Amino acid sequence: MPSQYGMTQKAQRREHFLHLFKARELVTLAVLAASLLVTFRIWESAERSAQQNLSTAFDFRVRESNIRIEQRLAVYEQILRATVGLFASADTVTRNEFRAFVSSLSLQEMFPGIEGVGLSIIVPPGQKDTHVAAVRAEGFPEYDIRPPGDRDFQTSIVYLEPFFGRNLRAFGFDMFSEPHRRAAMEEARDSGRTAISSKVVLVQESGTEVQDGFLMYLPVFRNNAPRASVEERRASILGWVYAPFRMEDFMRGVNGELTNDVDVEIYDGELVNPAARMYDSHVEVEASSPARGLKRVAYIQTGSRTWTVVTSAMPEFDVRMHSDRPRLILQSGVSISLLIALLIWLFLDDRARALQAADQAMQLALYDALTGLPNRKLLDERLGVELTKARRDRSHVALLFIDLDKFKPVNDNFGHAYGDLLLKEVARRLQSCMRESDTASRLGGDEFVALLSGIEDDEATLRVADKILLRLTEPYEIAGHTFHISASIGAAVYPRDGIDSKSLVRSADVAMYVAKNAGRANVKLAERTH
Ligand code: GH3
Ligand code: MG
Repeated sequence: MPSQYGMTQKAQRREHFLHLFKARELVTLAVLAASLLVTFRIWESAERSAQQNLSTAFDFRVRESNIRIEQRLAVYEQILRATVGLFASADTVTRNEFRAFVSSLSLQEMFPGIEGVGLSIIVPPGQKDTHVAAVRAEGFPEYDIRPPGDRDFQTSIVYLEPFFGRNLRAFGFDMFSEPHRRAAMEEARDSGRTAISSKVVLVQESGTEVQDGFLMYLPVFRNNAPRASVEERRASILGWVYAPFRMEDFMRGVNGELTNDVDVEIYDGELVNPAARMYDSHVEVEASSPARGLKRVAYIQTGSRTWTVVTSAMPEFDVRMHSDRPRLILQSGVSISLLIALLIWLFLDDRARALQAADQAMQLALYDALTGLPNRKLLDERLGVELTKARRDRSHVALLFIDLDKFKPVNDNFGHAYGDLLLKEVARRLQSCMRESDTASRLGGDEFVALLSGIEDDEATLRVADKILLRLTEPYEIAGHTFHISASIGAAVYPRDGIDSKSLVRSADVAMYVAKNAGRANVKLAERTH
């Protein structure tokens, strides 16, 4: 069984350091990995919450945009109501009165997006000529109801303010003759409420920069006539107050210039298809690939008409609302992780150095500086251990005291340095005669001790001592000189020559002197006194 302090000790120490180094690398890497994992988790959740915040912000943005549209529609409805109110206050409202009223609303300044406010009246069959003549007499000799021809039910736009520019093109137009407008007019008449038309191209359009548009209608009933039922409303209707809208102008009024971060598309009806599209804030933007997948579909209801509003985020929205937090968390997390790993690496290095230093100190305390053999202190320790073992196992321990013969003259004749080299060679040779379980040590000067554990008997002890003597007597070649040195060896065996360290050491020491006195270069067993 190899001794804890035997030949393998150096290898053990090396392994220990190797172990320590590996542990240092492993611990550092483990800490780095763990802190990077924590960083990643925090980043992930920050990223998720940033995405959620972005989504919430987008919801707000969409709701705000849609509410603006609804509010705008409600405002225009109020304007039409106010205009209907004008007719409720008097049996007839002249063109000038209508103009004065509408201009007092300051539509262009206050509510940009509305093309105008007009009145379309029903021209009963048989009254067409009288009607046309009356309007012409007002100073509009070109006036006629369009399209020409007789129809059972005819209407005509008689007032439309502001009465200039492209609005003049609508003057005299029979909106009831056109199915889309007619549907909304009938709905307004039968419900008594506001109705808007489906997507139309206004008659105001001149052919260049044509926009989609829609019309909003509110019925005007004969004052004091009953209008509780559909029949009564149909019987008492005089015409419609209405407003034409061009979609892009309308939306510009709704959003101002705030639409750069979202793309808004409005579809007439509940289906999203190109034919039904009446507005697209960014024609160049493809709604199918919104920024960060942010896209919402909402419905706006006016009367029986539904608009489908599709809002999708543009890259600008992402840029404006984007949170830097996840990136900062990632950056600082990685930095902190690296810093922690570095600190641990350095700390473990310090620890390794401290352990190494301790080991060197131990080396000094327990080993002979010149030869590297265990010193007297370590020999005492090992002797104690071996004696305890021998006591337990009822085995033997032998102690050989070795003193070089006539060593002093080497120092005296060649110098201390030669002596030192010779002592080192002696140590090497002594060690080469030892088994793994044995200990060769130097007490000091030219005095060495061999501790032989588990030795069988005197004969075996003498065999080892003779072997050592033979080996040490071989000539020494040191720095070009040949030295001939012998040794005197005293041997003591536990338990016969001493049952504890002290008595055993004394017996071996005495035996060594006996060997010296017997003429040197020989081995003596301790004298048996019993
Ligand atoms: P003896 O045969 O009676 O043993 O005579 P010796 O010349 O060997 O003398 P002794 O053992 O009494 O003395 C040992 C000498 O070893 C004394 C000292 O000069 C020398 N010495 C002690 N320590 C060292 C050392 O570390 N290096 C060297 N070079 N010499 C040492
Ligand atoms: Mg000597």
